Amino acid sequence: MSTDIDLSVHPLTQDPTKAWEKFKQTQKSIKIQPPIPKGPVADDKVRIVCMSDTHSKISLMKFDVPLGDIFIHAGDFTSCGGLEEVIDFNNWLGTLPHKYKIVIAGNHELSFDPTFTQHTNINDIPTLGFEQDLIKNAVQQKNIKNYLTNCIYLEDSMTECFGLKIYGSPWQPEYGGWAFNIPRGQSCLDKWNLIPAGIDVLVTHSPPLGHGDDCCSGVRAGCVELLLSVQNRIKPKYHVFGHVHEGYGITTDGKIIYINASSCDLRYLPVNHPIVFDIALPKGQEKK
Ligand code: MN
Ligand code: MN
Repeated sequence: MSTDIDLSVHPLTQDPTKAWEKFKQTQKSIKIQPPIPKGPVADDKVRIVCMSDTHSKISLMKFDVPLGDIFIHAGDFTSCGGLEEVIDFNNWLGTLPHKYKIVIAGNHELSFDPTFTQHTNINDIPTLGFEQDLIKNAVQQKNIKNYLTNCIYLEDSMTECFGLKIYGSPWQPEYGGWAFNIPRGQSCLDKWNLIPAGIDVLVTHSPPLGHGDDCCSGVRAGCVELLLSVQNRIKPKYHVFGHVHEGYGITTDGKIIYINASSCDLRYLPVNHPIVFDIALPKGQEKK
Protein backbone atom coordinates (compact mmCIF):
# COMPACT_ATOMS: atom_id res chain seq x y z
CA MET A 1 0.00 0.00 0.00
CA SER A 2 1.49 3.29 -1.05
CA THR A 3 1.79 5.91 1.66
CA ASP A 4 4.46 7.99 -0.03
CA ILE A 5 2.66 11.11 1.15
CA ASP A 6 1.79 11.35 4.81
CA LEU A 7 -1.29 13.50 5.26
CA SER A 8 -2.32 14.87 8.60
CA VAL A 9 -5.67 16.15 9.82
CA HIS A 10 -6.45 19.66 8.58
CA PRO A 11 -7.03 22.32 11.28
CA LEU A 12 -10.42 23.19 9.75
CA THR A 13 -11.60 19.59 9.48
CA GLN A 14 -14.58 20.18 11.79
CA ASP A 15 -15.81 23.13 9.72
CA PRO A 16 -15.87 22.08 6.06
CA THR A 17 -17.75 25.22 4.99
CA LYS A 18 -14.96 27.41 6.36
CA ALA A 19 -12.32 25.02 5.02
CA TRP A 20 -13.70 25.38 1.49
CA GLU A 21 -13.70 29.20 1.78
CA LYS A 22 -9.96 28.89 2.31
CA PHE A 23 -9.31 26.09 -0.20
CA LYS A 24 -11.11 27.85 -3.03
CA GLN A 25 -8.59 30.67 -2.99
CA THR A 26 -6.07 28.26 -4.50
CA GLN A 27 -8.16 25.64 -6.29
CA LYS A 28 -11.38 25.34 -8.23
CA SER A 29 -14.41 23.13 -8.42
CA ILE A 30 -15.69 23.59 -11.95
CA LYS A 31 -19.11 22.28 -12.94
CA ILE A 32 -18.81 20.46 -16.24
CA GLN A 33 -21.25 18.81 -18.61
CA PRO A 34 -19.27 16.41 -20.74
CA PRO A 35 -21.17 15.07 -23.75
CA ILE A 36 -23.12 11.94 -22.83
CA PRO A 37 -21.39 9.00 -24.53
CA LYS A 38 -23.75 7.40 -27.01
CA GLY A 39 -23.43 4.71 -29.63
CA PRO A 40 -20.97 1.85 -29.45
CA VAL A 41 -18.02 2.06 -27.10
CA ALA A 42 -14.59 2.29 -28.74
CA ASP A 43 -12.53 -0.92 -28.60
CA ASP A 44 -9.96 0.68 -26.32
CA LYS A 45 -12.50 2.04 -23.83
CA VAL A 46 -15.12 0.79 -21.40
CA ARG A 47 -18.37 2.55 -20.58
CA ILE A 48 -19.20 3.12 -16.92
CA VAL A 49 -22.74 3.93 -15.75
CA CYS A 50 -23.05 5.51 -12.29
CA MET A 51 -26.01 5.76 -9.94
CA SER A 52 -26.39 6.38 -6.23
CA ASP A 53 -29.05 7.03 -3.60
CA THR A 54 -31.91 5.18 -5.26
CA HIS A 55 -33.46 4.51 -1.83
CA SER A 56 -35.78 1.68 -2.95
CA LYS A 57 -37.45 4.05 -5.45
CA ILE A 58 -36.30 2.33 -8.63
CA SER A 59 -39.88 1.48 -9.68
CA LEU A 60 -40.57 5.25 -9.84
CA MET A 61 -37.73 5.95 -12.29
CA LYS A 62 -38.99 7.36 -15.56
CA PHE A 63 -35.92 6.36 -17.57
CA ASP A 64 -33.96 3.25 -18.46
CA VAL A 65 -30.48 2.63 -17.14
CA PRO A 66 -28.08 3.29 -20.04
CA LEU A 67 -26.14 0.35 -21.42
CA GLY A 68 -22.48 0.01 -20.54
CA ASP A 69 -19.74 -2.35 -19.46
CA ILE A 70 -19.62 -1.47 -15.76
CA PHE A 71 -22.45 -0.33 -13.49
CA ILE A 72 -21.60 1.45 -10.24
CA HIS A 73 -23.97 2.21 -7.35
CA ALA A 74 -22.45 4.47 -4.67
CA GLY A 75 -24.72 3.51 -1.75
CA ASP A 76 -28.08 4.32 -0.16
CA PHE A 77 -29.91 1.77 -2.30
CA THR A 78 -32.48 1.24 0.50
CA SER A 79 -34.34 3.35 3.05
CA CYS A 80 -32.96 1.49 6.05
CA GLY A 81 -31.39 -1.75 4.84
CA GLY A 82 -34.48 -3.94 5.26
CA LEU A 83 -34.27 -7.48 3.95
CA GLU A 84 -37.09 -7.01 1.41
CA GLU A 85 -35.42 -3.85 0.15
CA VAL A 86 -32.09 -5.60 -0.33
CA ILE A 87 -33.73 -8.54 -2.11
CA ASP A 88 -35.66 -6.18 -4.43
CA PHE A 89 -32.51 -4.23 -5.23
CA ASN A 90 -30.57 -7.42 -5.92
CA ASN A 91 -33.32 -8.70 -8.21
CA TRP A 92 -33.24 -5.41 -10.11
CA LEU A 93 -29.44 -5.62 -10.42
CA GLY A 94 -30.00 -9.04 -11.95
CA THR A 95 -31.96 -7.47 -14.80
CA LEU A 96 -29.11 -5.10 -15.77
CA PRO A 97 -26.97 -6.30 -18.67
CA HIS A 98 -23.68 -4.69 -17.56
CA LYS A 99 -20.85 -7.21 -17.30
CA TYR A 100 -19.68 -5.90 -13.92
CA LYS A 101 -21.94 -4.34 -11.30
CA ILE A 102 -20.23 -2.68 -8.35
CA VAL A 103 -22.14 -1.71 -5.21
CA ILE A 104 -21.16 -0.06 -1.93
CA ALA A 105 -23.32 0.68 1.12
CA GLY A 106 -24.34 4.10 2.42
CA ASN A 107 -25.54 5.40 5.76
CA HIS A 108 -29.06 4.10 5.05
CA GLU A 109 -27.91 0.48 4.82
CA LEU A 110 -28.13 -0.06 8.60
CA SER A 111 -28.11 -3.85 8.23
CA PHE A 112 -24.68 -3.73 6.54
CA ASP A 113 -22.98 -2.07 9.51
CA PRO A 114 -22.00 -4.45 12.34
CA THR A 115 -22.35 -1.55 14.80
CA PHE A 116 -26.09 -1.88 14.28
CA THR A 117 -26.49 -5.60 13.75
CA GLN A 118 -24.39 -6.57 16.77
CA HIS A 119 -24.46 -3.92 19.45
CA THR A 120 -27.30 -1.51 19.01
CA ASN A 121 -29.98 -0.94 21.56
CA ILE A 122 -32.97 -0.71 19.28
CA ASN A 123 -34.35 2.27 21.20
CA ASP A 124 -31.24 4.33 20.48
CA ILE A 125 -31.73 4.39 16.71
CA PRO A 126 -33.18 7.66 15.45
CA THR A 127 -36.25 7.05 13.32
CA LEU A 128 -35.72 9.84 10.77
CA GLY A 129 -39.34 9.40 9.78
CA PHE A 130 -39.16 5.66 9.26
CA GLU A 131 -41.23 3.06 11.01
CA GLN A 132 -39.35 1.73 14.03
CA ASP A 133 -40.51 -1.76 13.02
CA LEU A 134 -38.72 -1.50 9.68
CA ILE A 135 -35.52 -0.45 11.37
CA LYS A 136 -35.84 -3.17 13.98
CA ASN A 137 -36.28 -5.74 11.25
CA ALA A 138 -33.31 -4.36 9.30
CA VAL A 139 -30.81 -4.43 12.14
CA GLN A 140 -31.76 -7.99 13.09
CA GLN A 141 -30.63 -9.33 9.72
CA LYS A 142 -27.55 -11.51 9.77
CA ASN A 143 -25.13 -11.73 6.86
CA ILE A 144 -27.23 -9.41 4.72
CA LYS A 145 -24.37 -9.08 2.22
CA ASN A 146 -25.04 -12.66 1.14
CA TYR A 147 -28.26 -11.44 -0.47
CA LEU A 148 -26.30 -9.26 -2.91
CA THR A 149 -25.63 -12.06 -5.36
CA ASN A 150 -25.88 -10.02 -8.55
CA CYS A 151 -23.00 -7.61 -7.96
CA ILE A 152 -19.54 -7.16 -6.55
CA TYR A 153 -20.02 -5.60 -3.10
CA LEU A 154 -17.07 -3.45 -2.03
CA GLU A 155 -16.39 -2.39 1.55
CA ASP A 156 -12.89 -1.01 2.10
CA SER A 157 -11.90 -3.23 -0.78
CA MET A 158 -10.94 -3.22 -4.43
CA THR A 159 -11.84 -5.11 -7.54
CA GLU A 160 -10.43 -5.17 -11.04
CA CYS A 161 -12.65 -4.96 -14.12
CA PHE A 162 -11.04 -5.04 -17.58
CA GLY A 163 -7.76 -4.25 -15.77
CA LEU A 164 -9.26 -1.10 -14.22
CA LYS A 165 -8.83 -0.81 -10.47
CA ILE A 166 -12.04 0.18 -8.66
CA TYR A 167 -12.10 0.73 -4.88
CA GLY A 168 -15.21 1.16 -2.69
CA SER A 169 -15.76 2.63 0.79
CA PRO A 170 -19.06 3.28 2.64
CA TRP A 171 -17.79 5.65 5.37
CA GLN A 172 -18.93 9.23 5.90
CA PRO A 173 -18.39 11.98 8.47
CA GLU A 174 -21.00 11.66 11.23
CA TYR A 175 -24.47 12.63 10.16
CA GLY A 176 -27.58 11.64 12.07
CA GLY A 177 -26.02 8.60 13.69
CA TRP A 178 -26.82 6.16 10.89
CA ALA A 179 -24.61 3.44 9.40
CA PHE A 180 -20.89 3.84 8.65
CA ASN A 181 -20.77 7.20 10.49
CA ILE A 182 -17.40 8.22 11.91
CA PRO A 183 -16.14 11.47 13.44
CA ARG A 184 -14.48 14.00 11.13
CA GLY A 185 -10.71 14.17 11.32
CA GLN A 186 -8.42 11.26 12.15
CA SER A 187 -11.18 8.60 12.06
CA CYS A 188 -12.07 9.54 8.50
CA LEU A 189 -8.42 9.87 7.48
CA ASP A 190 -7.74 6.37 8.82
CA LYS A 191 -10.39 4.98 6.44
CA TRP A 192 -9.08 6.96 3.45
CA ASN A 193 -5.55 5.74 4.27
CA LEU A 194 -6.77 2.21 3.44
CA ILE A 195 -7.30 3.27 -0.19
CA PRO A 196 -4.32 2.45 -2.38
CA ALA A 197 -2.78 5.15 -4.56
CA GLY A 198 -3.07 4.96 -8.32
CA ILE A 199 -6.51 3.37 -8.64
CA ASP A 200 -8.66 4.25 -11.65
CA VAL A 201 -12.07 4.78 -10.06
CA LEU A 202 -12.74 5.57 -6.40
CA VAL A 203 -16.28 4.96 -5.13
CA THR A 204 -17.23 6.41 -1.74
CA HIS A 205 -20.68 7.12 -0.37
CA SER A 206 -19.76 10.58 0.85
CA PRO A 207 -18.40 13.44 -1.23
CA PRO A 208 -15.03 15.07 -0.72
CA LEU A 209 -14.96 18.73 0.27
CA GLY A 210 -15.83 21.14 -2.53
CA HIS A 211 -17.34 18.70 -5.03
CA GLY A 212 -21.02 17.79 -5.06
CA ASP A 213 -21.17 18.54 -1.34
CA ASP A 214 -22.99 21.87 -1.15
CA CYS A 215 -26.19 21.35 0.82
CA CYS A 216 -29.34 23.38 0.32
CA SER A 217 -28.80 24.69 3.85
CA GLY A 218 -25.70 26.52 2.62
CA VAL A 219 -23.17 24.32 4.36
CA ARG A 220 -20.57 22.06 2.79
CA ALA A 221 -20.88 18.45 3.95
CA GLY A 222 -17.80 17.02 2.23
CA CYS A 223 -14.84 15.54 4.06
CA VAL A 224 -11.70 17.69 4.10
CA GLU A 225 -9.38 14.69 4.51
CA LEU A 226 -11.08 12.84 1.66
CA LEU A 227 -10.36 15.73 -0.73
CA LEU A 228 -6.75 16.03 0.47
CA SER A 229 -6.22 12.26 0.17
CA VAL A 230 -7.81 12.08 -3.28
CA GLN A 231 -5.84 15.03 -4.67
CA ASN A 232 -2.46 14.43 -3.07
CA ARG A 233 -2.12 10.69 -2.62
CA ILE A 234 -4.77 8.47 -4.22
CA LYS A 235 -5.12 10.44 -7.49
CA PRO A 236 -7.88 8.39 -9.14
CA LYS A 237 -9.07 9.34 -12.61
CA TYR A 238 -12.66 9.44 -11.38
CA HIS A 239 -14.24 9.80 -7.95
CA VAL A 240 -17.88 8.61 -7.80
CA PHE A 241 -20.11 9.25 -4.77
CA GLY A 242 -23.60 10.38 -3.70
CA HIS A 243 -25.08 11.07 -0.24
CA VAL A 244 -25.69 14.81 -0.74
CA HIS A 245 -28.70 14.50 -3.03
CA GLU A 246 -28.76 18.17 -4.02
CA GLY A 247 -25.12 17.94 -5.11
CA TYR A 248 -25.92 15.78 -8.16
CA GLY A 249 -23.66 16.51 -11.14
CA ILE A 250 -20.09 16.49 -12.39
CA THR A 251 -17.21 18.74 -11.32
CA THR A 252 -13.46 18.82 -11.80
CA ASP A 253 -10.44 20.42 -10.16
CA GLY A 254 -8.64 20.26 -13.50
CA LYS A 255 -7.15 16.82 -12.87
CA ILE A 256 -9.74 14.51 -11.34
CA ILE A 257 -13.38 14.14 -12.39
CA TYR A 258 -15.83 14.12 -9.47
CA ILE A 259 -19.26 12.57 -9.99
CA ASN A 260 -22.14 12.97 -7.55
CA ALA A 261 -24.49 10.36 -9.02
CA SER A 262 -27.41 10.80 -6.56
CA SER A 263 -30.49 9.53 -8.35
CA CYS A 264 -32.95 10.82 -5.77
CA ASP A 265 -33.46 14.50 -5.17
CA LEU A 266 -34.17 16.11 -1.79
CA ARG A 267 -37.72 14.75 -1.82
CA TYR A 268 -36.37 11.23 -2.34
CA LEU A 269 -37.75 11.07 -5.88
CA PRO A 270 -35.47 9.33 -8.41
CA VAL A 271 -35.39 12.12 -11.00
CA ASN A 272 -31.65 12.40 -11.75
CA HIS A 273 -30.36 10.40 -14.69
CA PRO A 274 -27.45 7.97 -14.33
CA ILE A 275 -24.09 9.56 -15.17
CA VAL A 276 -22.17 7.83 -17.95
CA PHE A 277 -18.54 8.08 -18.99
CA ASP A 278 -16.06 6.19 -21.14
CA ILE A 279 -12.65 5.40 -19.68
CA ALA A 280 -9.59 4.19 -21.57
CA LEU A 281 -8.49 0.62 -20.95
CA PRO A 282 -5.04 0.20 -19.39
CA LYS A 283 -2.31 -0.21 -22.01
CA GLY A 284 -2.15 -3.73 -23.41
CA GLN A 285 -5.55 -4.62 -21.95
CA GLU A 286 -8.18 -5.99 -24.31
CA LYS A 287 -11.90 -5.96 -23.76
CA LYS A 288 -13.05 -9.50 -24.31
MN1 MN B 1 -29.21 9.28 0.30
MN1 MN C 1 -26.40 8.93 2.43
